[in-house]
Amino acid sequence: MPTDLRQFDVIVLGAGAAGLMCAVVAGQRGRRVALLEHNGQPGRKILISGGGRCNFTNLHCGPENFHSENPHFAKSALALFPPRHFLELVERYGIAWHEKTLGQLFCDGSARTILDMLLEECERGGVEVVLNAREIAVEASSSGFRVSSSHGEFWAESLVVATGGLSIPKLGATGLGYELAAQFGLNVIEPRPALVPLVLGGDEAGWTELAGVAADVVAWAEPGFEKHPSGAKAQAHSAGSTYGLKPVPFKELKSVRFREKMLVTHRGLSGPAVLQASSYWRPGEALLLNFLPELAAQADLFDGLKQPGARRDLVALRRALREVLPQRLANYLAEIGGPKGWSNAALEECERHLRRWELHPVGTEGFEKAEVTAGGVDTRELQARTMEALSAPGLFFIGEAVDVTGQLGGFNFQWAWASGVAAGRAV
Ligand SMILES: Cc1cc2nc3c(=O)[nH]c(=O)nc-3n(C[C@H](O)[C@H](O)[C@H](O)COP(=O)(O)OP(=O)(O)OC[C@H]3O[C@@H](n4cnc5c(N)ncnc54)[C@H](O)[C@@H]3O)c2cc1C
Repeated sequence: MPTDLRQFDVIVLGAGAAGLMCAVVAGQRGRRVALLEHNGQPGRKILISGGGRCNFTNLHCGPENFHSENPHFAKSALALFPPRHFLELVERYGIAWHEKTLGQLFCDGSARTILDMLLEECERGGVEVVLNAREIAVEASSSGFRVSSSHGEFWAESLVVATGGLSIPKLGATGLGYELAAQFGLNVIEPRPALVPLVLGGDEAGWTELAGVAADVVAWAEPGFEKHPSGAKAQAHSAGSTYGLKPVPFKELKSVRFREKMLVTHRGLSGPAVLQASSYWRPGEALLLNFLPELAAQADLFDGLKQPGARRDLVALRRALREVLPQRLANYLAEIGGPKGWSNAALEECERHLRRWELHPVGTEGFEKAEVTAGGVDTRELQARTMEALSAPGLFFIGEAVDVTGQLGGFNFQWAWASGVAAGRAV
């Protein structure tokens, strides 16, 4: 072996959430670890996460908060490193935190405290962090892996790929993880933007006039719709061809409903409810909205209009809608979704429509705006307890590069920590 080749036990590619955690665990086990990152700074996504306060985990994290072609895969790693283990580390560092809603834990102060904690733990484990390591290439060599980079050549018997997904390229996201998976013959589920705003077009473009309006809704994607009724073409942000991947047919995802806020944007819809539903939405499918989540199914929104002698017209309809919806939204829905007549039956039909309003997004805002990337290295290629490739001993894939995607609310970091720990204990 040439002498200018630096030897380690473990090389981790990508100093994001998963890579840092893996390096900490492996380093503190006494393994000699090199952590290679092409940015000039580690953990850039950690720094901007949760609006700068990092929603670092979720107390109610379970396998049902993730989607994957292989939904059982995540169970093992998640069970080995539950949220309270990460919380113990956070508390050991005296980082103040609070629970926002639904078990979501945020820092009271800056997300930087989480990154600093991980970097200090790396130092304790003797991890060598190599920044600005660009043009990374890998080849299998002498029962290990030889990694060349702009910062020299490295060799180790274990290689952990933690280079994340394609979301937010300006923060340094690349498809290196998928390229390496393909190089070693592993299948990759086509990456697609998730937790991403949806774009409306065609005869639904009028919604964007409401930009800035927010409302509580229940949102969900519904499979089985092939075509946009207005003829507008639904656009897929396919990354497969870029990374030379074979397209793999999607399994239909189970529809999950999210009751949270929706926000109308200049291009379509966003807000937590829509971001959540977007992860389950596929081009060509409908987005369903219930605008009356507060109103029990048996309650009658138009009770007032139905009283004997009551006014039954657009003014009365708008007034009834404004009782439960923001004014601009109420007026818009009255205008485009008012009843076909003023009979009780027509009013009831209008209410049913408000509880199941169908929209046909023409696409998503793409990887530039997506909080995560769904799809990734096919989990059927990996061991669930260690994240090691079944067909390539010594090669591991962790974090967002893998086809395990969390819902909004701290689940994606929990997956990054848990899968990082699983590999860190095995390398
Ligand atoms: C705006 C935003 C806010 C978010 N907020 C939250 C939140 O509050 N809670 C939550 O749970 N999740 C949040 N997420 C999602 C979360 O950040 C990711 O799921 C998580 O960071 C994934 O960890 P990872 O280590 O797999 O990938 P990353 O954190 O993306 O790390 C991958 C690392 O690999 C490096 N890399 C990539 N390509 C190469 C290459 N070719 N050579 C060398 N290095 C490379 C990258 O520069 C990066 O440092 C947020 C995401 C975004 C975009």
